[in-house]
Amino acid sequence: MYNDEQGTQTDEGLPDGEFSSLAIDEMGNLSLESFIRELPQDSYNCSSHQGTGSILGNFCYSSPLPEHRYLATPTSWTSDRPPRPKSPWGCLDPYTSEDQDREYVGFATLPNQVHRKSVKKGFEFTLMVVGESGLGKSTLVNSLFLTDLYKDRKVLNAEERLAQTVGITKNTVCIEEKGVKLKLNVVDTQGYGDTINNTDSYKCVSDYIDHQFEQYRRDEIGLNRKNIQDNRVHCCLYFISPFGHGLRPLDVECMRALQDKVNIIPIVAKSDGLTYDEVKKKKSRILSEIDKYRLKIYQFPDCDSDEDEEFRRQDMELKRSVPFAVIGSNMVVDVNGRRLRARLYPWGVVEVENPYHSDFVHLRNMLVRTHMQDLKDMTHDTHYESYRAQWLCKSQRTVDYDFCHTSI
Ligand code: GDP
Repeated sequence: MYNDEQGTQTDEGLPDGEFSSLAIDEMGNLSLESFIRELPQDSYNCSSHQGTGSILGNFCYSSPLPEHRYLATPTSWTSDRPPRPKSPWGCLDPYTSEDQDREYVGFATLPNQVHRKSVKKGFEFTLMVVGESGLGKSTLVNSLFLTDLYKDRKVLNAEERLAQTVGITKNTVCIEEKGVKLKLNVVDTQGYGDTINNTDSYKCVSDYIDHQFEQYRRDEIGLNRKNIQDNRVHCCLYFISPFGHGLRPLDVECMRALQDKVNIIPIVAKSDGLTYDEVKKKKSRILSEIDKYRLKIYQFPDCDSDEDEEFRRQDMELKRSVPFAVIGSNMVVDVNGRRLRARLYPWGVVEVENPYHSDFVHLRNMLVRTHMQDLKDMTHDTHYESYRAQWLCKSQRTVDYDFCHTSI
């Protein structure tokens, strides 16, 4: 584990910059050519030609058109050859699979190739947390990713907080699970909403997001565009205080400033301080205010029509949980022989991952298991595209203005 930028928490075993994000267009661009390239050498060396078709290793095809198919290899060609090593792809491999699979060219293995390639590359995700100090942002992030991202954080006292301006800090941690690597960047907005006059609190956050878009735009037109470091913010967890009545003016203004730049997911912080009914009322009030002020939060994509019943049920439950009422804890406690993250009170235990106690599990499932790629796609296809379009309009206007003034 290591934290970059801050220069802290370094684990030598995980080199920095090794993984980069997997752009969806890159996935889509895999060609059959690259499939052939990745095959073992002995499987594609041409040994002879026969009519219009060519023999590739020990299979041949006669045409690239739809009717082309692998032909059974005459035994005389293979009898004196050593047995072929088994393919890593198994199913739908023309050499090893069942007779009916020989009907296929093999591009049904494309998802496997994409899978292998993306696992090798690793994934990258940038999460931003916005909310005033003490709402449990760092505790929640640690609980979500089972890590300690804030080891060296200095908590300021009231006097120091009054003097400070909003400071953006970025921590990076590399997590590996079952061979899949995730480089997680967490952008924190220290000092947000802490001063007496918070008018410009969100300006700094908005500028940071724009700056990452601008960096990406420049990298995209630069020479080394193959190895672009994607630091764009894919998701913003916006923490709403559980103690107020719905949204505060600062929440409305901040969400309005960020809504076209980032996927906002509203969070009711420290929901263990609220009863079941209070949570319900708070959620409905927040949603009606979001509606009233026409604020745009992240919209979950519709379920595909071919999804099964269970998936649809879970998807519906997830959508109903917004804004997620969450609980965080850095403590692991023993509850009836089970070790779990929980908050220990004199009157009982609040379990972080218990769906009856909070929406933590829904939030984590959504962020990590079901919607991470969609959040990245939305960032690239919608928010970044809108930034780029605005930039192009602005630069076009500057060109037109210069042209008018030089030609006068
Ligand atoms: P941050 O400043 O927003 O990052 O807040 P912290 O994560 O540092 O949490 C501030 C305090 O709130 C700490 O004492 C935490 O133990 C406590 N805390 C964090 N999450 C929760 C929660 O879900 N419920 C309650 N009751 N307290 C929490």
